[in-house]
Amino acid sequence: MIQLVRGFKDILPDETVVWQRIEAAARKQLESYGFSEIRTPVLEQAALFQRSIGEHTDIVEKEMYTFPGSRDTLLTLRPEATASVVRAYIQHKLYAEDPVRKLYSIGPMFRKERPQKGRYRQFHQVNAEVFGIESAYMDAQLISMLERFFRKIDVSGLTVHINSLGCPGCRDEYREALRKALAGKTGALCADCVRRLDKNPLRLLDCKVPACREEVSNAPAMADFVCAACTDHFETVKSGLAAMGVVYEVDPRLVRGLDYYTRTAFEIQTDELGAQNAIAGGGRYDGLVGQLGGPVMPAVGFAIGMDRLVDLVMARQAAGVRPPVLFFAAVGEAARGRAFQWSCALSEAGLRVEIDFSARSLKALMRRAGRLGAEYVLIVGDNELAENKAVLRHMGTKTQAEVPIDTVETLVAAVTARVGNNPSPEQR
Ligand code: AMP
Repeated sequence: MIQLVRGFKDILPDETVVWQRIEAAARKQLESYGFSEIRTPVLEQAALFQRSIGEHTDIVEKEMYTFPGSRDTLLTLRPEATASVVRAYIQHKLYAEDPVRKLYSIGPMFRKERPQKGRYRQFHQVNAEVFGIESAYMDAQLISMLERFFRKIDVSGLTVHINSLGCPGCRDEYREALRKALAGKTGALCADCVRRLDKNPLRLLDCKVPACREEVSNAPAMADFVCAACTDHFETVKSGLAAMGVVYEVDPRLVRGLDYYTRTAFEIQTDELGAQNAIAGGGRYDGLVGQLGGPVMPAVGFAIGMDRLVDLVMARQAAGVRPPVLFFAAVGEAARGRAFQWSCALSEAGLRVEIDFSARSLKALMRRAGRLGAEYVLIVGDNELAENKAVLRHMGTKTQAEVPIDTVETLVAAVTARVGNNPSPEQR
């Protein structure tokens, strides 16, 4: 019998219920932040993607489904949504009345990548694009909106990675510095990277070949080249995230596979899906609208990879667990007694908490927290009691903070402020 095409998949009824639930939650979240839906075709002129994503990216060089259309145009099944949404924004002059537009779309994308778990040739994204807003608070808002969306569908414990890619001014300088630093190392680089070094050196930063990674880690970092205005922008993104209680990691290697990003780039990752660990990614692309023939217009957006998100949700469902937001690792009888009270108070405050009352070592308790997928662990033992504070550890980034434990109320206030989102019980 005739089978499915490799890299493509059917989504059967057991799974479609999960898709529908997540799509509905995404629409609700996006609509509450002021987004409206746009639907663009899956087929566009190949030139649109060549000019936006970049000639020397993996997507354009090897992954597009491109074929001849009528006359001498080449057509491509869209490998991503941003270029199409930008085209529509320009073509229909969506900037005419008010340049600020917040648009989202949901649908399939096509890339001829090597299929593997979490990587398909037809995959699905929820995309969001914001036009006309230059402020870094918008970047922070998108990331925080995403983080809260994931919590609402019970996917906690993800890590947010951010980087600044600078503007064309500072990036040109960096590109040259990278080229210079690696010019003498071509013997150690893979064939793709040798080619990239000439055409598009920034692409070396996301090569997965260990030898290339090693060379790149010794090369100059973008952070040292970011100009004052881009630094300010990045600082505001970080302070916006901190104000919203979003825990993030600055990852100087994060460049993303598309050429149009400027300033902020971000990715939301999980360690539960193996090699394909990015669940969502995005960034700012202040030059793209102008580059594709529209007015000069700042813009920022992201894409959520639905297939991976559904895999994650289904894996958690199959395991039958809803991971706690906070796990108590209390060592010693005195600490357990205090932690018992705090955990009850935090549950009442609406946080999803878990406490282990057994007399186990800290190591064993931390292992259990990891197995449960806890987002944070509150560590308390005799030393902490003596110093009147406990340690709050974020399991994804492994960062720690001290929280005061004078009274149950101070502990509850300090933990809810850090854990951030003042969740309602039904969300947790
Ligand atoms: P990108 O458009 O490359 O920025 O990717 C955004 C998100 O789409 C990623 O974080 C992934 O979750 C998802 N994604 C990208 N490529 C694939 C693929 N081939 N298969 C499944 N999901 C993908």
